[in-house]
Amino acid sequence: MHTYCDRCNEVADHTVDVSSDPELTDLLKDLGYRTVCPGCYEDLLIEAKEARDQLADDRRAHHRVPAQIPVRIETTDGGSTTETVTEDISENGAQIRANAELEPGTVVRIAALDGSADAVAIVEVVWHDGEALRAGLKLVESSDTWNRLVESHEALEP
Ligand SMILES: [Zn+2]
Repeated sequence: MHTYCDRCNEVADHTVDVSSDPELTDLLKDLGYRTVCPGCYEDLLIEAKEARDQLADDRRAHHRVPAQIPVRIETTDGGSTTETVTEDISENGAQIRANAELEPGTVVRIAALDGSADAVAIVEVVWHDGEALRAGLKLVESSDTWNRLVESHEALEP
């Protein structure tokens, strides 16, 4: 008996029932395949894995790690340099204790005072937290040294 593959629509001698495959549940929710040929089954397993990896990456990028790290904030136009500390850091940004000189939209270089990491970021928001001023920085491009800094602090989390 020949059956058709739901994915490539080719006749297949042998098909795999994917409707109850736990690896593929999320991926197939929208696709609706039930039986696929072995070649398509392999492809789907790879796609499902990539989707999961992507999700894990996204989660990691947005995961904020509380960390008080002494940093130097330098505006890229050479305007001002200040030293402060971070409140939390993530792979795509940081929240820092700010001073009045930081304006939203300013591009700054943020560097750990111990020289372990640096990144270029844009000041997204500045707000008052009681008496203190806070600023949210978003990295303009990902930085390997910054990622390592986040990872090293993430490892310290309970
Ligand atoms: Zn197929």
